[in-house]
Amino acid sequence: MKISELLAKKIPTLSFEVFPPKTSSKYETVKAATSAIAKLKPDYMSVTCGAGGKTDIYTADIAASLGSEHSVTSIAHMTCVGTSKADAKRRIKELEDLGIENVFGLRGDIPEGFDMAGCDFQHASELIAYIKSISDICVGGACYPEGHPESANIYEDIGHIREKVDAGCEFLTTQMFFDNNIFYKYLCKLRDAGINVPVAAGIMPVTNAAQMEHICSLSGAYIPSRFINILDRFGSDPDAMKQAGIIYATEQIVDLLANGVNAIHVYSMNKPDVAAKIQENLSCIVPSAKK
Ligand code: FAD
Repeated sequence: MKISELLAKKIPTLSFEVFPPKTSSKYETVKAATSAIAKLKPDYMSVTCGAGGKTDIYTADIAASLGSEHSVTSIAHMTCVGTSKADAKRRIKELEDLGIENVFGLRGDIPEGFDMAGCDFQHASELIAYIKSISDICVGGACYPEGHPESANIYEDIGHIREKVDAGCEFLTTQMFFDNNIFYKYLCKLRDAGINVPVAAGIMPVTNAAQMEHICSLSGAYIPSRFINILDRFGSDPDAMKQAGIIYATEQIVDLLANGVNAIHVYSMNKPDVAAKIQENLSCIVPSAKK
């Protein structure tokens, strides 16, 4: 199913992001984790990719298996980094041949020392426009409630999101955020800019203190004092931190749904137990979570 069609129904949806193995030695472990998450029958699952295309074969393989083995709609991520027009055309054809109807078009994080000058696509909007020129596959793209770290300000960044949507991006998924007010204000700015595609809220259940340090260094996301208190109190007790992190994420989701946000995308980090618990917590709220 095309995710644009699913989100157009305007009913609450719960989807999970998984990542592919970096090497063949990790393949079976990752496959087992993604299969366990697929057995929860979420509305759809996204499969990330490493910038530079090295993991694309696994991204496509895992995304295809979600559909063929579990009947779960999937979306495969694809980046501009190191991708030529010929590469993009070949990968889209591969995805279509595997029965995958959705692709997430990204620039990707540029590896240190990598020169984008040799790439056919400098920005996600260019990749998305190219994909839409050769295929009617559904295309999603990324957006950043706190602004992309490279952009001068949020309005400049939203201008580029607008280019992405004008290029054919049919829905957006946000970077993780830990304060829903940031998301609500951002959504208003997107709508003011004439961006009317569905926006899936990206929620990260933080289940250990080290994960939060990693997140902060990567995304620079604002951490509310309420969450800092949780880290201070429970960060050194793994079980307590996991439980508190899942509850925090669940509360964020319930608040979003209560305020009319229908599309919830959970960064599952390939943890089936965390995905299952979040789903269970929403079993009377999200139709696909009802068992
Ligand atoms: P772009 O939309 O190209 O934007 C990048 C920067 O360039 C922004 O600052 C933007 O404002 C600016 N910009 C855009 N267009 C122009 C223009 N025409 N002129 C000048 N400036 C411009 N990374 C991966 O490697 N693999 C993944 O699977 C992956 N999945 C992700 C999923 C989500 C939901 C999110 C939010 C991010 C994901 N990322 C992934 C990370 C992403 O690749 C990085 O955040 C990357 O730095 C930006 O990608 P983008 O597609 O948003 O880029």
